[in-house]
Amino acid sequence: MTTPRTASDAPAVRIRGVRKSFGRLEVLRGINLEVWPGEVVCLIGPSGSGKSTLLRCVNHLEKVDGGWIEVEGELVGYRRKGDKVYELKDREICRKREQIGMVFQQFNLFPHMTVLGNVVEAPVRLGKARQREAEAAGRELLARVGLADKESAYPRQLSGGQQQRVAIARALAMRPRLMLFDEPTSALDPELVGDVLSVMADLAKDGMTMIVVTHEMGFAREAADRVVFMDQGRLVEQGSPSEILERPSHERTQAFLRRVL
Ligand code: ADP
Ligand code: MG
Repeated sequence: MTTPRTASDAPAVRIRGVRKSFGRLEVLRGINLEVWPGEVVCLIGPSGSGKSTLLRCVNHLEKVDGGWIEVEGELVGYRRKGDKVYELKDREICRKREQIGMVFQQFNLFPHMTVLGNVVEAPVRLGKARQREAEAAGRELLARVGLADKESAYPRQLSGGQQQRVAIARALAMRPRLMLFDEPTSALDPELVGDVLSVMADLAKDGMTMIVVTHEMGFAREAADRVVFMDQGRLVEQGSPSEILERPSHERTQAFLRRVL
């Protein structure tokens, strides 16, 4: 397991004893996980094992039923005051969510806005930047994801892979300290997957802290610092990509990898 670089290095994300149920279905059964600043953690596991739910809990999209999550030392969903803990109001939750970038399988771009319009929308609406500054920053981000020439195009004029790269630029426009990816390439035609993964690999190389749910084992091998295998709401094992992908110790990990590799 990756260890902190210095004793004072606090985890970017700390997940402790997290439980979550939907009705009688227990989806997360006591998850413990730390993600260190600059670390790239790939979350793998069968469909229904709770990967998306875990990401959604980190990003304030679901409330946990037990345990707690901290992002950069701050409790998700709660505020400490002295020795008391208060639930955050919806408005405060929205503000927290802005600090985390999330990219989904479906890109969810605004269809009536241009590419650049999509990228500058949030920072302008939320008063993080003026239109002109946001556009300058947005153009830089579009160049970074290889779409400098597409700023005036509309989403429907782009391929799925290009749209997903716009979605990544849009998330980065909020200058997040943490990026969450939930199967970002699963909806793409195979020939479009590589460009999206290479943008993500560049981001990883630049030191972004990332949690990536993916079935792309090549990406996990190349870009992840750590691979975490989940099954049935539990974290079964974790380690370096070669430990988990080549020498998994648990039978369930071995069975999963036989299916996907
Ligand atoms: P994964 O991303 O690993 O495929 P999910 O976290 O999406 O798994 O889902 C885990 C389980 O929780 C699945 O059985 C799914 O049907 C169920 N689930 C997820 N979200 C909800 C919800 N909002 N309401 C009810 N059941 C849900
Ligand atoms: Mg999922």
